[in-house]
Amino acid sequence: MSEPYHSQSIPFLVKNRLSDKVRAHSQLTKREFLKFCGASFCMLSVPHLFGFPETSQAQMIKKGLIKTRLSPFFTSLERGEIQCELCPHRCRVAKGKRGLCKVRENRDGKYYSLVYGNPCAIHPDPIEKKPFFHVLPGTISYSLATVGCNFQCKFCQNWEISQAFPEEIYNKEFPPETVVKEAQEIRAQSIAYTYVEPTVFYEYMIEICHLAKKAGLLNVTHSNGFINPAPLKNLCKVLDAANIDLKGFTENFYRELCGGELGPVLETLKTLKKEKVHLEITTLIIPTKNDEMSVLKEMCLWIKKELGPDTPIHFSRFYPLYKLKTLPPTPVSTLDRARTVALSAGLEYVYIGNVPGHEAENTFCPKCKKMVIQRTGYMVGEIHLRDGKCKACGKPIPGIWT
Ligand code: SF4
Repeated sequence: MSEPYHSQSIPFLVKNRLSDKVRAHSQLTKREFLKFCGASFCMLSVPHLFGFPETSQAQMIKKGLIKTRLSPFFTSLERGEIQCELCPHRCRVAKGKRGLCKVRENRDGKYYSLVYGNPCAIHPDPIEKKPFFHVLPGTISYSLATVGCNFQCKFCQNWEISQAFPEEIYNKEFPPETVVKEAQEIRAQSIAYTYVEPTVFYEYMIEICHLAKKAGLLNVTHSNGFINPAPLKNLCKVLDAANIDLKGFTENFYRELCGGELGPVLETLKTLKKEKVHLEITTLIIPTKNDEMSVLKEMCLWIKKELGPDTPIHFSRFYPLYKLKTLPPTPVSTLDRARTVALSAGLEYVYIGNVPGHEAENTFCPKCKKMVIQRTGYMVGEIHLRDGKCKACGKPIPGIWT
């Protein structure tokens, strides 16, 4: 996933302390509250995924499997084998074995999710961090993930949890009802399924989504888009917004660097658009891997034609980590060139991420060119929108604003 590299998961122990602080600051104005959260998140952003003690504060936290849930997405084959129907890998799994994502297991010919109700990361984030720039700016998104992923990206920013087995990580017993309750307690306005690929905890996510909808919260996801059409369409019924990683625009990039395929991701983008889920796209630009401007131009033209020129895209800066430590960080000049290419291709909302203070963190009206939302990092400043339209010229700006 390319939610910014410093957003890695926070241990529950720390998270619980943070929640107390958040509650203690419930009298703050929205801006003060966000400022407080932003500062706290920066301070606490070092991952401590292993080895925090099982104290009384962490009673419901355990290393290893806690609960399982039968998956509705599998087909039975001969000799007790099954085929998983959740994502395009369509893993064929023998009895006692697991699929590629490591969190689904064939037990006596039935397929089970091993992470239902057991997140390893819960974190109240500014929604700008997902990143969503056209969804309720300046609000908190209650973000969570379990262990596991259906990709093996060599540049993964959260590899400690995405590539782990559930037995290797501390997980929490955290039923969907509690997720929604806690999100309401900290006055989050959305729940975000993020950090790893949420498809791998689909059964958990969909139950939270239904409860969140009833409670008046938005459901948003940051996903790699590698999901089969049936579960995706089912999810679209309760999903308000999706930020999909379009990690590159060649099959070779997806095969070599992600262990996935481009085709199904493009289909997911088209489906989300058709199902009227608010859509934003993120592309992490990695030096020498996907920074060719001719390919980026082709990608932007595809987005314009298939999804519309008003689809927001975030070009995000790569920092060397995980299996691509020998590469340099993306030069800001490369991101600037990518932005110029995207704007010339006709895309109207082109952002640059992971470069705090860059002008392209702001939203500009494509018609009158005035700034409509001002941002610095994850902090939202002035907003010049009225009823979802540019205050200066009245052009509608796509997004979820109320
Ligand atoms: S969700 Fe996991 S088990 Fe199912 S097909 Fe995808 S990688 Fe395989």
